[in-house]
Amino acid sequence: MKILSIDQGTTSSRAIVFSEKMEILSSGQYALTQHYPNPGWVEHDPQEIVKITLRAVFDALFEGCDDIAAVGITNQRETTVLWNKKTGLPVHNAIVWQCRRTANYCDELTQNGYAELIRSKTGLPIDAYFSGTKLKWLLDNVDGARELAERGELAFGTIDCWLIWNLTGGKVHATDPSNASRTMLFNIHTGEWDKELCELFDIPMSVLPKICQTGGYIGAVATDPSIPAALWGKPICSAVGDQQAALFGQTCFNKGDAKNTYGTGCFTLVNTGNAPIDSQTLISTVAWKIANETVYALEGSVFNAGSSIQWLRDELKIIEKASDVDKNAAKVADSGGVYLVSAFTGLGAPHWDMYARGTIVGLTRGTNVNHICRATLEGIAFQVRDLLFAMQEQTGTKISALFVDGGACVSDLMMQFQADIADCIVDRPKIVESTALGAAMLAAIGANLLTMDDLKDLRACDKCFEPSMDQNLRLEKIAKWNRAIEAAKIII
Ligand code: ADP
Repeated sequence: MKILSIDQGTTSSRAIVFSEKMEILSSGQYALTQHYPNPGWVEHDPQEIVKITLRAVFDALFEGCDDIAAVGITNQRETTVLWNKKTGLPVHNAIVWQCRRTANYCDELTQNGYAELIRSKTGLPIDAYFSGTKLKWLLDNVDGARELAERGELAFGTIDCWLIWNLTGGKVHATDPSNASRTMLFNIHTGEWDKELCELFDIPMSVLPKICQTGGYIGAVATDPSIPAALWGKPICSAVGDQQAALFGQTCFNKGDAKNTYGTGCFTLVNTGNAPIDSQTLISTVAWKIANETVYALEGSVFNAGSSIQWLRDELKIIEKASDVDKNAAKVADSGGVYLVSAFTGLGAPHWDMYARGTIVGLTRGTNVNHICRATLEGIAFQVRDLLFAMQEQTGTKISALFVDGGACVSDLMMQFQADIADCIVDRPKIVESTALGAAMLAAIGANLLTMDDLKDLRACDKCFEPSMDQNLRLEKIAKWNRAIEAAKIII
């Protein structure tokens, strides 16, 4: 019994074959072209997405790895595709989550007083990130799109949905609630598309996909020569947004379980159980739906995390490669009173200040490169702590363990500081491919091959970091960090 996990990300498509013990057996990966047609606009070619994804799948399915029992899909979230149901051709390039082209329309919605309505129904703040306004832009700006949509001839989907359509030979137009909850069109309380919001955005409901479960049978792979024969007729048993996939892959199955991904940015999610939390500062989202039970999560992100390490390397040129940050930081006992807030593009949750900028405070004549490196790593951990603290306050549950992944989680020094400053255990698993793993695990559940208990037992810890900082020192550092945050908010 093997599971094929397809991970369609912003910069590449990957395919990984997992064994029944959830070990990685083989993989394939191809880069995706980024298109920037205007300042602040980002697009992908949907057909290139299908092409490179299938190529990655062909690579992963070599002999010995091709007896696949089920397929799972995880994807970059919010990215929007609109296509013709008859021809299967997209009417335009996909509008990527990062694209800001609908920012003005979002400002209008806010000025017209829709923020509370949208937040209460969808759990989301009004923002150009989410699919709804991107879909509206396509219907309003692509010649003839609206007429075709009114006639029921167009299909909208996030990338999971676009891949399912293509893998099933155009037979299945479906998504899951973890993806649907990023569209700003989905009511997280009812678990259905919201008629009132579709009317507000002028979106004909006929373009919307059916909402399946996150882990459950979605459709069968088509017998099509462009798809590896090993997959023909095989069941697609999961579709899940990448961050929720990572939460599942980290086996955060219970209320209060949290994960953080330390990538270019950080994404923190905490499982909030069977009810969405009403939050003003964090995103309330669907984590997954399995066996007709919906589990929710609170989500927050740090805009600049690993990117601040890249900044040390590429702009300040005080390190040659990312791993040097660790080596330098380890040469000093602490940051020497230096605090670095990497608010290069403003501050996200829970501070929400888009005008904040990067700030270094506490410099002395004795500050050296090693202190700056250490303050950079600590600054990332402080921002994650701020998110965890907000999550704890809003859920009323102490987060006792944080499960970590992403490129920068290899830094033992940062992980220890994270445990110390957040006062919780930090647990790094052996397999840090949590996203692809999560989609494979959900497919195994969806195909009734494994249970949640089986999966919990399969997770192997690489290293556990226990909090050991003196409580007074911890509180003193947090107080100083809060002052550094205030300094970052000063508009120069
Ligand atoms: P993304 O998926 O967002 O592109 P990754 O999960 O691949 O990001 O993580 C890449 C980030 O990890 C980079 O920003 C890099 O600075 C950071 N990184 C890589 N190696 C190390 C290391 N040894 N110590 C600390 N950070 C690292």
